[in-house]
Amino acid sequence: MNPCTFQQLGIAATPVHTSCHILQQCIPQYTVGHPERLDRVHATLAAARTAAQSNSGVARCLSVVGAGYVGVGVNDLALAAHRLAVNLHQSQQGGLPPPTGLEQRF
Ligand SMILES: Cc1cc2nc3c(=O)[nH]c(=O)nc-3n(C[C@H](O)[C@H](O)[C@H](O)COP(=O)(O)OP(=O)(O)OC[C@H]3O[C@@H](n4cnc5c(N)ncnc54)[C@H](O)[C@@H]3O)c2cc1C
Repeated sequence: MNPCTFQQLGIAATPVHTSCHILQQCIPQYTVGHPERLDRVHATLAAARTAAQSNSGVARCLSVVGAGYVGVGVNDLALAAHRLAVNLHQSQQGGLPPPTGLEQRF
């Protein structure tokens, strides 16, 4: 067991038995090429902000957050959602285009 776990849980005894398992097909993981896909999504959304309104559609103001993009755990998503909310507020206050949600990733 990780020494930090002993410290956090206040355990002083030495374990008499330990076992470790990899849980197959548990929380999904991103497939190869995910960062590059995010780069393309970010670039597409960012470009739509400056494109003529007639041909940019909803992408002009679309921001993304969630497990499909920037984290598979609740803690990652809470942080990403908080950052996006702050960035959306700041962009509105400053009269700037909305963030894509993918400005900070990995
Ligand atoms: C079995 C299991 C156990 C997990 N255990 C943990 C854990 O211990 N710790 C941890 O950190 N993470 C865990 N996770 C991962 C974590 O739960 C997810 O990463 C997280 O909930 C994803 O949040 P999200 O907001 O991106 O998506 P979701 O929580 O899936 O929210 C998406 C929402 O959008 C709604 N929706 C979907 N399509 C549409 C539509 N077309 N129109 C309107 N609404 C729609 C859905 O109904 C849903 O409410 C677990 C996941 C699973 C499945």
